[in-house]
Amino acid sequence: MPDRVLSIAGYEIDLGPALYLISSSRIAMVGLQVPEGLKRAAPLIARTVSDLTGSRVIISGDPCFGACDLDLDLLTSVDLLLHVGHSELCAAYTDKVVYIEARMSQPVADAVQRSIPLLTSPRVGLCTTVQHAQFVPDALMILAEAGIQAEAALPGARGKYRGQVLGCNYQAARDLDVDEYLFIGSGLFHPLGMAISTGKRVVCADPTTGQACEVRPEALIRRRFGAIANAMDSRRIAVLVSKKPGQQRQELADFMMEIGTAAGREMIMVRIDNIEPDRLINLGIDAAVSTACPRVALDDSARYPIPILTPPEFEILLGRKEDYEFDEIV
Ligand code: SF4
Repeated sequence: MPDRVLSIAGYEIDLGPALYLISSSRIAMVGLQVPEGLKRAAPLIARTVSDLTGSRVIISGDPCFGACDLDLDLLTSVDLLLHVGHSELCAAYTDKVVYIEARMSQPVADAVQRSIPLLTSPRVGLCTTVQHAQFVPDALMILAEAGIQAEAALPGARGKYRGQVLGCNYQAARDLDVDEYLFIGSGLFHPLGMAISTGKRVVCADPTTGQACEVRPEALIRRRFGAIANAMDSRRIAVLVSKKPGQQRQELADFMMEIGTAAGREMIMVRIDNIEPDRLINLGIDAAVSTACPRVALDDSARYPIPILTPPEFEILLGRKEDYEFDEIV
């Protein structure tokens, strides 16, 4: 019999509760959505669900970037959608969507130990992503043994666990009255977002390498002011509104249209699912303001031949703001 807890590429994926729900509710048709980093595991997950419940499984072939990114089209064709890799978001769909988290099994102790000499204050906020959320108590204990009174905040608006941050929301960091932060996780996007959002020092402990380092947001901010300068003379500007349920910010898009028009720019609104360079170029625009995931502008801008700004960056361009602000979805 296939195992209900799958170990895939360093992640543990517990299918047990979803399998129980599918069997006990006699669900016939199941949709399966898996993020890009785990996509190769989709056939194994689908087969496990099918073998253990007798349900038919349809895998979403479209890209999936986060908990915000439900395949709403597939959702109309199935009785239940399994969304793997992220914690719950998109409350409007919870009766038909089951989020199955992917937890990294790699312990965080080595990386946290290495971060201790880099921390300069005994008042430290601890943050992480859902993949390492189970290790927050261990990390707090290691820091306490080193004399550091670290805290992890209650989950923020888009999180589910203590200390959990998302690329688009750092409330769990901002809610703490601390001097600096320790972020546990891989990649620089989250710790850079935390540093900009809080204006405080962030040390990053990466469990996959066992290393720790301080992150410096200055270079990213300089690049973003460069993008704002490049967009300064743009005549026709598109405001992008995402079709993804957890990225849709229509009111904010309306506001961007309003302030851009008032400033004499030719503004167009574009509703779009996956934002790709070709789709924008064919619109004949000089720049775009993305109200979708902040990573589109901040992480992917090198892919685009035109400047892509976040909403706060557009406000800087129009002279409505001076200081740089990280674009967060609340
Ligand atoms: S909006 Fe972006 S950062 Fe936020 S959950 Fe979605 S993919 Fe992740």
